Amino acid sequence: MTRSIRLFNTLTRRVEPVAPLNPGVVTLYTCGPTVYNFAHIGNLRTFLFQDLLKRTFQAAGFEVRHCMNITDVEDKIIRDSQKELPAEADNAARHAAMKALTDRYTRAFFDDLEAVAIPQASFTFLPRATDYIPQMIQLIQRLETKGLAYAREGSVYYRIAGLPSYGCLAHLDREGMQVGTSVDSDEYERESVSDFVLWKATKPAEPAWASPWGQGRPGWHIECSAMGMELLGERVDIHSGGVDLIFPHHENEIAQSEGATGHTWVNHWVHGEFLLVEGEKMSKSLGNFYTLRDLRDKGIDPITFRYAIQSNHYRKLFNFGFEGLKGAKSALERIRTFRTRMEGNGESAGGGEWKEAIDPIRRVEAAREAFWASLSDDLNTPEALAAIFTLVSDLNAHDDRIALTRAERDAVLVFLDETNAIFASWPHQEISLDAEVEALIDARKAAKAAKNWAESDRVRDQLKAMGILLEDRKDGSVGWKKA
Ligand code: AMP
Ligand code: ZN
Repeated sequence: MTRSIRLFNTLTRRVEPVAPLNPGVVTLYTCGPTVYNFAHIGNLRTFLFQDLLKRTFQAAGFEVRHCMNITDVEDKIIRDSQKELPAEADNAARHAAMKALTDRYTRAFFDDLEAVAIPQASFTFLPRATDYIPQMIQLIQRLETKGLAYAREGSVYYRIAGLPSYGCLAHLDREGMQVGTSVDSDEYERESVSDFVLWKATKPAEPAWASPWGQGRPGWHIECSAMGMELLGERVDIHSGGVDLIFPHHENEIAQSEGATGHTWVNHWVHGEFLLVEGEKMSKSLGNFYTLRDLRDKGIDPITFRYAIQSNHYRKLFNFGFEGLKGAKSALERIRTFRTRMEGNGESAGGGEWKEAIDPIRRVEAAREAFWASLSDDLNTPEALAAIFTLVSDLNAHDDRIALTRAERDAVLVFLDETNAIFASWPHQEISLDAEVEALIDARKAAKAAKNWAESDRVRDQLKAMGILLEDRKDGSVGWKKA
């Protein structure tokens, strides 16, 4: 048995039930990170929303086949990975430098996901773009055969005039569109809608692959179409990303995939709103740019961050602030303390007048119903959590007088575990400072042994930022104290 889940569909701009093509199995494609730096907390908001989406379908009885790509070739990755290489470096050295950078940040990315309770094992497929270059080339060739792509000076562009439905996702006004120009960059505003690039002719000092159009590399948009179609098929239930991806990225993915197959690719397009910091767009120049590491250095438990994100509706802007996190922390404490109470106390007789009026089992049932009614209505997490808090206050207020029986407490625990399968926030032991510091000291030791001085310096600086002073002892071991 599966529960029906309704989600807002960007394509139709309506909340609609998700009806998987294959009953009981949901295919989900989410655009993954561009791995040239640490993910910031805005990126993490989007990945957390997608994790909640997946867990909701799983808890509703579906199997979820989830594919998230790793974008490991792209303009910014090339810019950052190639700058230290000498001009005469060959293609192999250029690829190696790019891989070194993307490997490092892919690892850091999965560490961050694990810390916010998104296990790597929860993904069915985690393709890296550079492993799917042949599929990208084939897809571009399919588009050429259909007259939807044209080559020019070693690059290939998509002919948007050839696809009458172009603009369906972003709801572009075809009348006002100037067609015929072409753009080489992957990112542009909807005002400059144009024939976009599928394959980029190589420039000096760039890693490149051989192709029917000469040496070059894929555009960003073709990466997701090729990986998504290869791994999930030519018809997919849900595709998701942050709202910034609606145009041009997802619009172009639709043009590529549907242009090639001639039929609908994705039924449900689901987009998460942005995270702002104290009301402003996050940017390095404003000094309001945070990674998960920055939050940890300020003593914030990643699970508190997870809970803060989940307690907001995914289609509303999330205004991040340190004060707001305190509220999330105490709300979470309330559920955890309640859970501990429900675990303890052993057997009790129960009974009494109050007990009859309260009827704890019925309250748990009502909470479960309210929880699912909210969650299945476009993932209304604030209301789903409110259902849990209603139960907490009802049973907390009366517990002293009605003394719940073991069976009643167990019924409450079952409900808390069911909801935790989605929120993944209670019960939870904070990683102790000791364990974290010891792990960092080990990482520094390993970096030194590998003569990776940059990494060992980075770890030392991270410890310093946490206020930890290291002491190199005579016996070769390293001690530490809080400054
Ligand atoms: P990127 O690594 O830049 O490709 O982004 C990864 C994901 O993060 C995409 O789904 C983006 O839409 C999303 N994203 C980027 N910035 C923000 C933000 N400030 N708030 C929420 N999501 C974001
Ligand atoms: Zn994508």
